[in-house]
Amino acid sequence: MKKIYSKSDLMKIAVEEHLKCNEFPRVGVVVARDGVILSTGYRGEVPGLHAERVALQKISKEERIGTEVFTTLEPCVCLHEEQSVESCSDLIVASGVVEVVIGVLDPNGTIYSQGYRRLLDNNISVSFFTRKLREAVEEETFEYGQIDRVYGSGKRRVPVLHSGLKISVQFNKSDSRTIQISWGTLQFNHGIVDLHGPSGSVVVASGARKFSDITDPEVFRFSSHVARLSKGQIAIVQPAGATFCVLVKVLDLFKNDIIFQWEVRNIK
Ligand SMILES: [Zn+2]
Repeated sequence: MKKIYSKSDLMKIAVEEHLKCNEFPRVGVVVARDGVILSTGYRGEVPGLHAERVALQKISKEERIGTEVFTTLEPCVCLHEEQSVESCSDLIVASGVVEVVIGVLDPNGTIYSQGYRRLLDNNISVSFFTRKLREAVEEETFEYGQIDRVYGSGKRRVPVLHSGLKISVQFNKSDSRTIQISWGTLQFNHGIVDLHGPSGSVVVASGARKFSDITDPEVFRFSSHVARLSKGQIAIVQPAGATFCVLVKVLDLFKNDIIFQWEVRNIK
């Protein structure tokens, strides 16, 4: 008698799989039929193969038909015509999978929501992990952790899509003081991106090359609600009445993503 798992159990087993990964992004997959597990896989289990492919290749083509795939991260899509290996969403479609349950959509701006759309376009039923499991997946999947809240100081790669991504910068895990920033209008060709903050709170730290160059954040002039930054530039966000400020530096720009660095400072 084969064990029958509930959907939430299958989600949890996919999360257990992704925790086996020792590279980022972590991805874990369970292939099941009517609650019976047929195979599992994680990214890195077979060098160079994505988790969906690892799991699906463990069963025959006939066995793949009519299965449900639980994956912690949105399946990838084909990004260019000459790609040598088919994308995971194409593999899932070609395998005759009927249902995909996704942990989180890929924050990589080049893939974001395209895998989801591709599955729906091929009449595959798509749903998502429970909110609690999504949060767990989000925390563990990416090298930089959760993408819409950051603490203290660090670096993070974030997508800059449409009107932009709002990020809460919290002073630290035990001090809940927070400043809201957002990124918008990424112009990769011009090497610039806009950093938004509350009205009159954003100022470019002209001339500063690293955070330690800024001995007093209040010396810089011409604050606005937005600063247009290029790679290497630093801005300071200090809303009226705030008891701390955030230093923000653009480390790198990509077509749909940026990497930024931040550091909070108490105002003396
Ligand atoms: Zn893939």
